Amino acid sequence: MEDDIFCMIIRGEIPSTKVYEDEDVLAILDISQATRGHTLVMPKAHYKDMLHCPGELLHRVMDVAQRIGQAAIKSLGASGVNILTNAGPSAGQTIPHFHVHVIPRYDVDTGGFEITMKENTDKDLNLPVIAQEIKEKL
Ligand code: 5GP
Repeated sequence: MEDDIFCMIIRGEIPSTKVYEDEDVLAILDISQATRGHTLVMPKAHYKDMLHCPGELLHRVMDVAQRIGQAAIKSLGASGVNILTNAGPSAGQTIPHFHVHVIPRYDVDTGGFEITMKENTDKDLNLPVIAQEIKEKL
C-alpha cells in the first residue's frame, strides 16, 4: 500500500473535489488552481510516473484528460488548455503518483502558468548522435 497523497485521496482518507471517477481513473481539482478548473487526472492504481504506467491504462487516463479539456472549453469558457505531466523530480514532479494536469487557459488568465524553452548552452549537440541514442532503446 502506497502512502503518497494521491493514494490517500483515492482511498478516501483525504477529501478532494472530484470531477470524474470510474473503476480505474480519478480526476480531482488541483488544490492550488493555477487557473480556474485546473484538474489532475490519475490512475487509481499506483504508478510513480507516466513512464511506468501500462499503455492501456495510460490511454484511459489521457482519454479522461481530453474529455475534461473539452468540457473546460464548453463549460468554463476557456479558450485553450495545457495538458501535461511531470515525470521525475528534475521535471518538476512533486507527488510520485502518475497524474496529468489539465490546465484551462483563458484569453485573460487570472492565474499563472508558463512553459519557457531555454536555449541549451551545450555547443556540442550532435542531433544524429542524439537521435541514434534514443532509437537504440525504443
Ligand atoms: P506535480 O508537481 O507532481 O506535477 O503536481 C502535483 C500537484 O498536486 C500540484 O499542482 C499540487 O498543487 C497538487 N496537490 C498537492 N497536494 C494536493 C492535495 O492534497 N489535493 C489536491 N487536490 N491537489 C494537491
